[in-house]
Amino acid sequence: MIGLIQRVSEASVKVEGRIVGQIARGLLVLVGVEKHDDQANAQRLLERLLGYRVFPDESGKMNLSLADIGGDLLLVPQFTLAADTRKGTRPSFSSAAAPELGAELFEYFVAAARERCARVETGVFGADMKVSLVNDGPVTFCAGWKAMRLGVDLGGTKIEIVALDDAGKQLLRRRVVTPKDNYHKTLQVIAALVHAAEAELGQHGSLGIGTPGSLSRATGRLKNSNSVVFNGQPIQQDLEALLQRPVQISNNANCFALSEAVDGAAAGAEVVFGVILGTGVGAGIVVNGHVLTGPNGIAGEWGHNPLPWPEAHELPGPSCYCGKQGCVETFLSGSGMAKLHQMETGISLGAEEIVARAEQGDTTCESSLQTFENRLARSLAHVINILDPDVIVLGGGMSNIERLYANVPAQWGRWVFSDRVDTKLVKNQYGDSSGVRGAAWL
Ligand SMILES: [Zn+2]
Repeated sequence: MIGLIQRVSEASVKVEGRIVGQIARGLLVLVGVEKHDDQANAQRLLERLLGYRVFPDESGKMNLSLADIGGDLLLVPQFTLAADTRKGTRPSFSSAAAPELGAELFEYFVAAARERCARVETGVFGADMKVSLVNDGPVTFCAGWKAMRLGVDLGGTKIEIVALDDAGKQLLRRRVVTPKDNYHKTLQVIAALVHAAEAELGQHGSLGIGTPGSLSRATGRLKNSNSVVFNGQPIQQDLEALLQRPVQISNNANCFALSEAVDGAAAGAEVVFGVILGTGVGAGIVVNGHVLTGPNGIAGEWGHNPLPWPEAHELPGPSCYCGKQGCVETFLSGSGMAKLHQMETGISLGAEEIVARAEQGDTTCESSLQTFENRLARSLAHVINILDPDVIVLGGGMSNIERLYANVPAQWGRWVFSDRVDTKLVKNQYGDSSGVRGAAWL
């Protein structure tokens, strides 16, 4: 909840030419409600504006509060205060509360203020209002509390929770084992993690969940998850009922991209393509700080497109668990690289070992790594031709291969349909924490 507090000698608000609220000496407060706000935030804002010492004492120093001087209060609802003004040239109101919640919390705020203050006047929620004031000084403050953000990374083997403050600082992080093959037990474990975090930190939080797979917009149920017990489950609805709050849910790769786009390696970039090159290959797209999902909930799922500009020996390509052959994932995942190396050389090595041996001058490993770089360059050139992102961030185990960041951009220009390529390829900033942090930013 945000309050823009102005010290006034008089103020009034009109609706359709008629004065609906009017005060003498006191505070005019424009009140903005954000989507994760609750009554506790409203109480905090009220305490602040009643106790904040903004009126002069006998010696002219700001030493007296509204309560001290018995001043008036004019409260005017103002949803535009919730706009995110950091990016773009037009305000985005995606963090503002829905009108129902906004009206409810504004009413709560007014009722709480009336219990504490002799004279409280108000504007009208949702109306076209004309506000007049004489700002005395001028003296203006902005006060606000954002709920802390809780993010949960739901994995097949572990469930992790993180709490972030408004600036993205980590307040808490915990990890537990995922109950085996038991959907309802998993929900209980998530709820217990949330309750324990809130009890420990003494505050409520908004909640985002990163999952394998994605929510079907048509059915509200999870699909494409490699943890098959979650598939077909209305996980968002179930968690909202269990935890009594809105719950945002998105794919792990989307969470990774969001985390890096908000305050990680791609901070400030308009369009971000976040790629996970791990045991699988997934990707998420973030535009102006928002995850792009799409009607099928699969935006960015590029791991199951075919390897582009294939050479004859790359066709039809290895079989993929999705039922197709030659998917990008079968070439660019860690296990894919290992399998192809074995097919070429007959030697069975893990991806990490191949990279290490290439560094030591092993020519067959060097050759496999160069082939990997070439395939990654082709695959990303394909993405650049369609999406033209400002930044591509790599995550997952294969993102630790430092030479990718020089060698891949050095050759992707061969396939990008442009005279020059200004796209940046960068390594993630938050490593394993990106998924859970991104869930918190949802
Ligand atoms: Zn596939």
